[in-house]
Amino acid sequence: MTAVQSSAEDRGGELLRKPRWRAVSGRPTVLSAYVVVVVVVHLALTATALFFAPLRLNDLWTFGALLACGAVCIEASRRLGMPAGVARDLLSAWWLPTALLLPPAYALLFPIPLQLLLQFRVRRTLLYRRILVTAALGIAGACASVVFHAVIPEPLGGIGWIVDGWPGVPLAVACAVLFTVVNTFIVALAAHASNPETRWRDVLWTRESLLLDVVELCVGVIVAISAALSLGLLLLTLPPAVLLQRSLMHQQLQAAARTDAKTGLLNAVAWQREADTELARAQRTQDPLALLLIDIDHFKRVNDTYGHLIGDQVLVGMASTLVHQLREYDVVGRFGGEEFVVLLPGADTVEACRVAERLRNRVRRLAVPAEDSTVGVTVSVGVALLRLHGDDMIELLAAADLALYRAKQSGRDRVCLPALDGPRAT
Ligand code: GH3
Ligand code: MG
Ligand code: MG
Repeated sequence: MTAVQSSAEDRGGELLRKPRWRAVSGRPTVLSAYVVVVVVVHLALTATALFFAPLRLNDLWTFGALLACGAVCIEASRRLGMPAGVARDLLSAWWLPTALLLPPAYALLFPIPLQLLLQFRVRRTLLYRRILVTAALGIAGACASVVFHAVIPEPLGGIGWIVDGWPGVPLAVACAVLFTVVNTFIVALAAHASNPETRWRDVLWTRESLLLDVVELCVGVIVAISAALSLGLLLLTLPPAVLLQRSLMHQQLQAAARTDAKTGLLNAVAWQREADTELARAQRTQDPLALLLIDIDHFKRVNDTYGHLIGDQVLVGMASTLVHQLREYDVVGRFGGEEFVVLLPGADTVEACRVAERLRNRVRRLAVPAEDSTVGVTVSVGVALLRLHGDDMIELLAAADLALYRAKQSGRDRVCLPALDGPRAT
């Protein structure tokens, strides 16, 4: 499937994908209560840890240096911007050393200035979201710090734990894993509270986010070891960390530019680009190819009856149905509003109509929760085939649009080909 179905969420300190956070009807109270509990726990832990924290100059220097590195990383990638939907950063390179090298109070405080910087210098996001992410990072850092310091009470007091190898370095890795797990669970619980429809697997780990976690973990442990050896070594770790952060942002911005933020499908421009490539291939190889234009019936009524938020949930459900029903190499996108477009490489008339009917039937089974009931929708589908109804994308889209118009005119909830007197009708 060429649809961009990004499901990674940020655990390094920025955002979750928008729809997961949009509290669906009836859920805001659960989410708000959860956010309050996490923030209160964070504040209580911070107050307690500050009370017991020894005030040492070396700790303060290390804290300041790591904080400065984090700020430089944020500023260095600020001009690139922050993708709207999904964002992962490499700031764990700095949270992790703080947790490993300094007492828990520092790990609890560390995310606050950096999250403020992100909020006011890079991208403003919903305040409760930012606060929750900050609290989650603080709590996760404190857990890692407590465990590490229980075995290595003075990580900055000598480099024995590094040169001896055991248990220092493996323990640092284990604590970095603990940090990631705790942070992920706190954030994933919020994502699930805001939308119980999402699968746990998607809010916890995907292959892509796991890979990024491993990279963050490695960078974090290397930075921690460097900082423990000498604070000056941070100057050597900073440039590669900045470069990694920038390339990660660049990659995410490129993906975001292709994606419709609401549904995660390709947006109209990206769809057109990918569809043109498939079309050129089909023209060269003389293989069949079909185009489906899918429009939700009476969608305005859904908005009018249940509100736009539920309307959006229907669009998300619709996109998910399309993605799950289509093949890996079909090109599916959101054309705009409640209209979706699918290119089926290799599909002849029979196959295209069979796929269109299957999609129509699956969408009928969609039940989006709304207040005390569920919302269901139907779709009308216009089908057009290469060479039969058009030779290029413009002709194909015009033919599919005509077919969609026929489907609407003849009662909706059906699949139609262009009319007999339509462009090159069959
Ligand atoms: P028809 O069966 O003829 O297609 O009727 P319809 O109501 O689906 O079509 P119409 O074009 O009259 O209305 C489309 C509606 O889709 C109007 C617009 O408010 C709504 N819409 C467009 N984009 C979005 C969106 O992103 N979210 C929500 N919730 N609604 C949207
Ligand atoms: Mg419609
Ligand atoms: Mg429409």
